[in-house]
Amino acid sequence: MPKKIKKVGVLTSGGDSPGMNAAIRSVVRTCAYHNIECIGIYRGYQGMIEGDFKEMGARSVNNIVNKGGTVLKSARSLEFKTPEGRKKAHDHLVKAGIDALVVIGGDGTFTGGMIFNAEFDFPVMGIPGTIDNDIFGTSHTLGYDTALNTVVEVIDKIRDTASSHNRLFFVEVMGRDAGHIALNAGIGAGAEEILIPEENLGLDRLLESLQKSKASGKSSSIVVIAEGDKIGKNVFELKDYVEANLPEYDVRVSVLGHMQRGGSPSCFDRVLASRLGVKAVESLLEGKSNYMVGLQNDTVTLTPLEQAIKGKTEIDRELLRVSDIMST
Ligand code: ATP
Repeated sequence: MPKKIKKVGVLTSGGDSPGMNAAIRSVVRTCAYHNIECIGIYRGYQGMIEGDFKEMGARSVNNIVNKGGTVLKSARSLEFKTPEGRKKAHDHLVKAGIDALVVIGGDGTFTGGMIFNAEFDFPVMGIPGTIDNDIFGTSHTLGYDTALNTVVEVIDKIRDTASSHNRLFFVEVMGRDAGHIALNAGIGAGAEEILIPEENLGLDRLLESLQKSKASGKSSSIVVIAEGDKIGKNVFELKDYVEANLPEYDVRVSVLGHMQRGGSPSCFDRVLASRLGVKAVESLLEGKSNYMVGLQNDTVTLTPLEQAIKGKTEIDRELLRVSDIMST
């Protein structure tokens, strides 16, 4: 019979993403609803090691559902990767009477949570928070939808200037290992080509496609490139290469960078965060542990943390085909 849970700790860890605050709010309010205490842990696992805790009641999370970033702050903690660090963190949790954890973050955060669970038999639930959408067991991670909307809005603006000057723009978006942002925002913003880590378009095909689009009467073009694309050149080298081979093109580069992580979360991310927070706390109260809550076929589900970390998210091949057809 698992120990009855009376106090839940919540933290955000790794890269921040829009919707993390809405998830914190949901965890805090679900605890209040079930008459259990909730403790906010600052700066992820590092704050756990240092005992940087704060009691959180239902009213302490007023007016954060619409805020980007994380009110609990985030951090990357090297010390938590050591058994000594994790022991210190466990001592602080025991001292504060915390008997379960909700960790909001990406696969590194889940790895830390899983190791902690195995070492101390401490109940842990994960909520996926990262804009890259690269976590197995959920169709959407917190922040992904907001990031897509941000990227589309910016590309729309870039298109205005691209078409005024007959220019070709290379827009680099986040995604070192996953092209979900590039592919979806690229289709949404009407990009002519999309380069992603999962596919190697090849330099020749890129040139061919740009030539074709010029010949078909397009006056400007947008190519969306994920950070980790496989073409073998960075975005500035790619600009030089294209200008050397297609002198008729005047190429500009725009690297969107960290702005993709910020901003007020979309309605979708707020609703998702609220649903995942409820499920995380209620699953802990049912005695479940070592799972990630996620969204599959619009149903909130549980996936073992180990699978969430090790499973591979696939790019939707049909979307690649749609993108090809749209650039005709
Ligand atoms: P993002 O996807 O935004 O990078 P993430 O959760 O993957 O988010 P990481 O920096 O990889 O971000 O991990 C967050 C924290 O989780 C680390 O700083 C560390 O404290 C903890 N962590 C990661 N890997 C391990 C590990 N192998 N053992 C213990 N703790 C870990």
